Amino acid sequence: MRVILSKNAGFCFGVKRAINTAEQTAAKAKGRVFTYGPIIHNPQVVEKFEKAGIHAVSNIKKTGKGDSLIIRTHGVAPEIEKEFLKKALNIVDATCPFVKKAQKLAANLKSQGYQTIIIGEAEHPEVQGILGYTGNTALVVGNAVEAGKIKKYGRLGVVVQTTQSIENFMKTVSNLMDKAPEIRVFNTICDATKRRQESVLKLADKVDIMIVVGGKNSANTKHLAELCKEKGVPTYHIEGALEIKKGWFKGKTIAGVTAGASTPDWVINIVIKTINALA
Ligand code: SF4
Repeated sequence: MRVILSKNAGFCFGVKRAINTAEQTAAKAKGRVFTYGPIIHNPQVVEKFEKAGIHAVSNIKKTGKGDSLIIRTHGVAPEIEKEFLKKALNIVDATCPFVKKAQKLAANLKSQGYQTIIIGEAEHPEVQGILGYTGNTALVVGNAVEAGKIKKYGRLGVVVQTTQSIENFMKTVSNLMDKAPEIRVFNTICDATKRRQESVLKLADKVDIMIVVGGKNSANTKHLAELCKEKGVPTYHIEGALEIKKGWFKGKTIAGVTAGASTPDWVINIVIKTINALA
């Protein structure tokens, strides 16, 4: 079996930065160290952090004065950040700069009188955070069908979740075009997501099977798997090598491997070794 790793796969700049920030915080902190939600959407990294004493909390009731609380790459809404300050927590902001840009643009659009639209997954923490920057007035639309159902407005301002697929973004924007006489659109999909998607589309043309490695709750990993499936390649989204089944590779000669922006290199390497060992 020949295995080809996608040109752009695994940890992105924002995730590396968040992990370094968390490790440096833990090394210096006098109090306990928490992350607000899992630091990244990857089970292996979250487990490693738990063992190192960096705990993920979804409710700050468990934290106390002097504890450090790390805001992860997805960011948080301003009202949540105010709650952290009220508890006198040492806030360490690891929000990815690409997410910060989307938050700022959404807030500006709101203040300039545009009805803001966020293209993305309504329940995703990043989208919830951006929504907070519009005072919870933005509409979240997940796809072109949902966009087609919204009412008409005077002015619309659009941003997109940083990890959405370009294809979904373009189709959704197209269906928003007759919803207002004036529309401002900002493509806030991040560079890392764009590069991973472009590389995987090229790779999917050359292989018989695609293995996509990353957290099942990772938005960018899910989109990579969807893109491969849309290309018609048999595709499996796994979190680690233990999920690999020999039967998937029967009659196949070339396997492609890619990984989401929150998947560590060592997890990718074990997956590649496991596939090589099958042939
Ligand atoms: S996927 Fe993009 S937005 Fe998310 S952390 Fe990485 S660089 Fe930042």
